[in-house]
Amino acid sequence: MTKERTPLQSLAGTRSVWGGEEEYLVQGSTQVPVVHSVSFGYEDIDTWHDVARGERTGHIYGRNSNPTVDAFEEKVRLLEGAEAATSFSTGMAAISNVLFTLLSPGDRVVSIKDTYGGTNKIFLEFLPRFRVEVQLCDTQDHEAMEKEIARGCRVLYLETPTNPTLKVVDLERLARAARRVGAIVVVDNTFATPVNQKPLELGADLVIHSATKFLGGHADALGGVVCGSKHRVQQVYHYREINGATLHPMSAYLLLRGMKTLHLRIRQQNQSALAIARYLEEHPAVESVFYPGLSGHVHHVIARKQMKDGYGGVLSFALKGGLEAVRRFLPRLRYAHLAANLGSVETVAGPPRTTSHVECTEKERQAMGIPEGLIRYSVGVEETEDLLFDLKQALEAVENIRAKTS
Ligand SMILES: *Cc1c(COP(=O)(O)O)cnc(C)c1O
Repeated sequence: MTKERTPLQSLAGTRSVWGGEEEYLVQGSTQVPVVHSVSFGYEDIDTWHDVARGERTGHIYGRNSNPTVDAFEEKVRLLEGAEAATSFSTGMAAISNVLFTLLSPGDRVVSIKDTYGGTNKIFLEFLPRFRVEVQLCDTQDHEAMEKEIARGCRVLYLETPTNPTLKVVDLERLARAARRVGAIVVVDNTFATPVNQKPLELGADLVIHSATKFLGGHADALGGVVCGSKHRVQQVYHYREINGATLHPMSAYLLLRGMKTLHLRIRQQNQSALAIARYLEEHPAVESVFYPGLSGHVHHVIARKQMKDGYGGVLSFALKGGLEAVRRFLPRLRYAHLAANLGSVETVAGPPRTTSHVECTEKERQAMGIPEGLIRYSVGVEETEDLLFDLKQALEAVENIRAKTS
């Protein structure tokens, strides 16, 4: 590919389609190939040596790097507007590799109570074993978080919107507090995606994605990715190449292909989620709706400030009648997989007690403000009207039963 290229303006949507691919196309192919080769050979021992030492670009061994995987990283890097990106076998691998790269015994982490279930396990079960102090704050209380940050910490770890009650934290405000004490700010941007939210522009040092969700978008490949400055990403990459949580080239290809429609999917999902949240808010069988796009959401103003194009494709709502109502409602949904995933082209629904918070007891879920009647609803790319109708008929069934038994 030696064509002369004038750099053009590119908006997120165009980057989703073209970003990061050109360099990897071979022999006129228009799609990035899946390179399954585990190792890469060199005729000349001096070139081999230079590549191995990182003094020349190229690949040596599949645990370290691979062309298909590189193309995936490059596309995410462009979408997040980062200097560098590196990838992982899963989102959890990305999260644990970042934390174990940055933290040493005696360090302190400040985070929120509402992080993803697996992340929460790392904070409560694994980090303390390595004498890392973890302070989890009330996700809604920014003043308390600022106080904890001011006491000093090595890492501030945030996620917004959160799972499953869609709480929102002010990234710019908390990143400012972190800067004052020299803390590294890490943000899990899985729920928002770079189409809606760019944490690096708001003061984050590292942005993490479970690419399994919206980036891939088709629920057919696991993956994780971390973006940030060259220096920080290199540190994390070095830990990962030794730790071995490498993204598989076939998964990298599937994620890369999925990302070409990221902006179209997110646009549709933003729009449907807002319409559905507004509809549910008015429904007599629904007790409460959690979605940052609703003007009644506690932190709608913060969400409006830091989320540009929309509020994401995930919402949750609690049914009147608790778990019994959930049992009746869910199987009646025609257009939703009842499963433990989100961010896919198909709508996916499920209660936290079998998905994100399966490890918790009912009491623990209550303490976290998760009602037993809660349903997490990840909006797919189906027609908004069909999803509204589907919810309407499933809710009617619940209402009929309630009317009969009362
Ligand atoms: C799913 C998810 C993860 C974990 O990703 P995996 O790819 O399943 O390991 C991390 N953070 C958030 C917000 C998620 O939704």
